[in-house]
Amino acid sequence: MINHEIKIAFDEYDSLKDLDTADYDLCIEAANALKNSHSPYSKFRVGAALRLQSGRIIYGSNQENVAYPSGLCAERVALFYWGANHPDDPVEAMAVTAQTDEFELTRPVTSCGSCLQVLAEVEKKQKRPVKIILYAGQGPVWVIKGIENQLPFLFFEERLTTI
Ligand SMILES: [Zn+2]
Repeated sequence: MINHEIKIAFDEYDSLKDLDTADYDLCIEAANALKNSHSPYSKFRVGAALRLQSGRIIYGSNQENVAYPSGLCAERVALFYWGANHPDDPVEAMAVTAQTDEFELTRPVTSCGSCLQVLAEVEKKQKRPVKIILYAGQGPVWVIKGIENQLPFLFFEERLTTI
């Protein structure tokens, strides 16, 4: 038997003001994005903002549906929009934030497994990692470099693209 250990790493900042200007601005854009959240069922609003290499900002927010599985997370709304409209302009960073009137959020909200799998595909397509910036309310800010620090056992089967 061999015991393996996998380390992941991320940086924690006390507040948005500790970020550099570009990342701070992207977090504000994520907060702007969640204003278009359609979340009458969960009452949990999520906003995502992508900063592309060109400086263009792409927005996403969670879009729910009365037929629950038909909805989509903010991150995938933004990432699929990028893939459909700006696939040659690499994603440098994605900021994600959330708000709800139901309870206080005191720490960042992390992405679901499906969004992480989609993020992995984006990194593979553009051949570079995406900086992820997560925050909520007045809580700390987590900055994570690349999918490998979020989903170390991601599904990544090279043979599917070489057959
Ligand atoms: Zn998700």
